[in-house]
Amino acid sequence: MDKIQVTTHSHAEFIDITPELNSLLEKQATKEGICYVYIPHTTAAVTINENADPSVRKDILNELNRMVPWSGRYTHMEGNAAAHIKATLVGSSISVPITGGKLALGTWQGIYFCEFDGPRRREVFVQMIKSE
Ligand code: ZN
Repeated sequence: MDKIQVTTHSHAEFIDITPELNSLLEKQATKEGICYVYIPHTTAAVTINENADPSVRKDILNELNRMVPWSGRYTHMEGNAAAHIKATLVGSSISVPITGGKLALGTWQGIYFCEFDGPRRREVFVQMIKSE
């Protein structure tokens, strides 16, 4: 298993980790298989979405904030219940097919680490599973 270190700089943000995943894939020289990306945190997540227009990421973050406001009728004593809820809504893992030695992402897709309770130092676990 590989690990990617991510340092977040805002309370909530999406960070493009596609370049780091591509370089891991190049090192592993996996031609066909699956890239499994897992977030070992309870207030962060991973998602695939548009890599062209950054306003898409902004809209997703804004809508998540509207759906799950920071202050609410939460019982979690640590005070970051909203971050836990957003992490569950977005999800803790993704899988992307690998073909021809590359991630089979669509033209407009990027892979994003989603911070919901930063800034912090975070980790991403990556398993490249060969199928050939
Ligand atoms: Zn908490």
